[in-house]
Amino acid sequence: MTRVVPILLTPGPLTTRLETRQAMLRDWGSRDDSFIAMTAEIRQRLLAVAGGGDRHVAVPLQGSGTFIVEAAIGTLLGPNDKLLVLINGAYGERILTIAQRLGRRALALRWPENQAVEPDLLEQTLRETPDITHVALVHCETTTGLENPLGAIAAITARHGKAFLVDAMSSFGALKIDIGRTPVTAVMASSNKCLEGAPGLGFAIVEKTALRAAQGNNPSLSLDLYEQWQGFEKNGQWRFTPPVQVAAALLAALRQLETEGGPEARLRRYRENFDILARGMERLGFRLFLSPADQAPIIATFHYPTTAGFHFPAFYQALAAEGFLIYPGKLSQADTFRIGCIGAIGGDDFRRLLQAIEVIAKDWTNTKSR
Ligand SMILES: *Cc1c(COP(=O)(O)O)cnc(C)c1O
Repeated sequence: MTRVVPILLTPGPLTTRLETRQAMLRDWGSRDDSFIAMTAEIRQRLLAVAGGGDRHVAVPLQGSGTFIVEAAIGTLLGPNDKLLVLINGAYGERILTIAQRLGRRALALRWPENQAVEPDLLEQTLRETPDITHVALVHCETTTGLENPLGAIAAITARHGKAFLVDAMSSFGALKIDIGRTPVTAVMASSNKCLEGAPGLGFAIVEKTALRAAQGNNPSLSLDLYEQWQGFEKNGQWRFTPPVQVAAALLAALRQLETEGGPEARLRRYRENFDILARGMERLGFRLFLSPADQAPIIATFHYPTTAGFHFPAFYQALAAEGFLIYPGKLSQADTFRIGCIGAIGGDDFRRLLQAIEVIAKDWTNTKSR
């Protein structure tokens, strides 16, 4: 049976609820009161999901997740600042690339892709390199699905008086980020991952004092988060054409997040998805890339099986024909593929996926024994 609408087992865009897609079935004038009210509610709800209060402000921006990371780096770092990026995957590397492209001073600490960043090494580096002004961390490194120790890194960074920038793209809305208690200068995320909205919009939740101090930093007009913030403060409007349908979908998705029980309940559902997947895959002979202690229930990375007959493109196509879109690996060291656990999907979807994989995998075993 081929499904008309596939289930996306990818880290975004991902499977959305019908109500979320239905929320896009009309037009909005971007300067009209009804859209201004929607924008205000989105900003307020995003701040609330992060546990933020008066100290922080939510600034949405058109574009994919990388656009908001580039906007935040370009806005919050001045020419005399220096960024330390903690890297254990492709998204950490991307932050460093962005800073370098912008001509900002930047350096990196690197760990292997299967290892969490180590707070002790950060401590040591901040002591040895006092001219570092900002530290950047990827909360959940989507390259593998690894969860980095946000709380410990935040505490050290704050103790040294440095600004802390968090790429929470694939964790925001599920893994806990309480900026009311955890010292964070800016959190960056997008509409189309754990918030389960449509793609096309990113946002940063930024300390107002940091934003105020950042006036004039960004050489880009459209990616200047200070100017974007000022635009919202002035008249509640976006500076340039907003993705109105994407915003409407995000608002619907944020209301559903509240109905589901907030990030805690969402994380519980994702963990159940992950557990069903991991146990089932293990039974079928697949091995996870990460050790359980580092694994977030966001996306699972599996080694290619050693079974003769396994060929990833054919495996992908066979699952796609059954209505499941999985994701290739992104690792430099190992042959892997990924299966996302996030989106408007539940245990039954994963049980059906496992049945499909079991049927497909029978062919590989047969190839071998023949
Ligand atoms: C998805 C993602 C991004 C942004 O990717 P886009 O393709 O630009 O949306 C950035 N960082 C992390 C950790 C991500 O998972």
